[in-house]
Amino acid sequence: MHEIEKTNIDSVTANAPKDEHAPINWTNMILFTSTPLLAAILVPWYGMVYGYSLYDWVAFILMMGFCGISITAGYHRLWSHKAYKAHPILRAIFALGGACALQNDVFHWASDHRRHHAFVDNNDRDPYSAGRGFWFSHIGWIVRHYESSKEDFSNIKDLQRDPILRWQHKHYLALVLIMNIALPAFLGYLGGSIMAGILLSGLLRLVLSQHFTYLINSLAHMWGKQTFSKKSSARDNPVLALLTYGEGYHNYHHTFQWDYRNGVRWWHYDPTKWLIRSCSWLGLTSDLKRVSPLMIETARLEMQYRMASEKCSSLANADKWREKLEEEYQQLKTTLDLWAQHRQEWYDSKTSQLHEQYEQLHEKWDQLALRDKYREVKYRLKLQRQRWQELMQSFGNLQAA
Ligand SMILES: [Zn+2]
Ligand SMILES: [Zn+2]
Repeated sequence: MHEIEKTNIDSVTANAPKDEHAPINWTNMILFTSTPLLAAILVPWYGMVYGYSLYDWVAFILMMGFCGISITAGYHRLWSHKAYKAHPILRAIFALGGACALQNDVFHWASDHRRHHAFVDNNDRDPYSAGRGFWFSHIGWIVRHYESSKEDFSNIKDLQRDPILRWQHKHYLALVLIMNIALPAFLGYLGGSIMAGILLSGLLRLVLSQHFTYLINSLAHMWGKQTFSKKSSARDNPVLALLTYGEGYHNYHHTFQWDYRNGVRWWHYDPTKWLIRSCSWLGLTSDLKRVSPLMIETARLEMQYRMASEKCSSLANADKWREKLEEEYQQLKTTLDLWAQHRQEWYDSKTSQLHEQYEQLHEKWDQLALRDKYREVKYRLKLQRQRWQELMQSFGNLQAA
């Protein structure tokens, strides 16, 4: 697991916001104040007086997942970033789940989000710039009419062509009421208590699912590690990934926003990625975009190299350390390129084997030789990576002169 660092958000505060006292958005102010308050009072009160059944809690968890994944897989990776394509059935489910999450319609959400990526950390143009502080980027930007989040659909013309999204936009309010009141009441009715359904699957689920998503705009730009790039304040944070269906690997996401994965390693907790992948086996998703392993590893290496280089200048034996760093860096870079090349050749030969039978003996031999070469380079890369990791650790332990 990555080491989590607390970092100073001052580094991203580029310029002072101009409209701190923008007019209040009363609909949102009332909504975002009353729902947490009501949830904090009514949910425990009902629990103490009448109690909740196991069914009520299961329905609550399923509704949490439905809303959360509709935002991460639908609003975010599908519509804002076009990281894959989805079948109309899936798009309709996400459109309903997004209305349930009450995070505005796809047009508004994706338009804001595309601006967030295009102008990240620019306090005047990023709608939820983390440079304006935790409160602003978490929820403050929603409760006032700020210039930076003024409606401008010029960046979502592609989405406006989707009839499902036009339908969601047109009937948004009705869908919100159906998904947030009628559906929880119906689920409650099935379990024997309409009120339990409204309070758990409706109210508590709404408040929690909203704030979990908002953590990506606030905390994921403040707390964690900049693994791949320092161009934005975005951080990788596995703890946040647990609460946000995999969106906590936010530094990776800001570096390679078109990738359908946020947690790029197979063991990274990213249920959104698992869902998109599983749906591709059923024909519900297609064209899953992926960044090549070489690009990912190169970005990671460059980042570590840059940080170690910076440290070099403050060390007593600066020249000696710089020489060692340079040597190891060049070696690792060369092996990385070689590994990517052999990996590609090996995968290509495996795919062609599926299409045309490898009957002839010499072709078999060629393939085995390719496999052995790939394994050899892979092993070399492993050893060099270990040496590099040790070098990075010693840099971490060294004190400035
Ligand atoms: Zn994004
Ligand atoms: Zn972000």
